[in-house]
Amino acid sequence: MRITVKENNRDRILQVVCNCCRRPLPVENGIVLEDYIHVDKAWGYFSERDGEKIAFDLCENCTQELTKRFRLPVYQKKTREYL
Ligand SMILES: [Zn+2]
Repeated sequence: MRITVKENNRDRILQVVCNCCRRPLPVENGIVLEDYIHVDKAWGYFSERDGEKIAFDLCENCTQELTKRFRLPVYQKKTREYL
């Protein structure tokens, strides 16, 4: 869950809380200092949820626990780390 405030027509992040474990992620000056997944989905016509919009955030640990339960492995590719 993201808590944001509008500043100069842009959303500034005040806080991010993992929807799964409820752990707040560290945020400093609008920058989230821990990587996470943000999902923002508007269900479409070919869905039983047509017109419904959902959003949630998952920390890295919860993402890892969730994807362990997938029957097909998650695609993974190592990339170079950019500093
Ligand atoms: Zn979590």
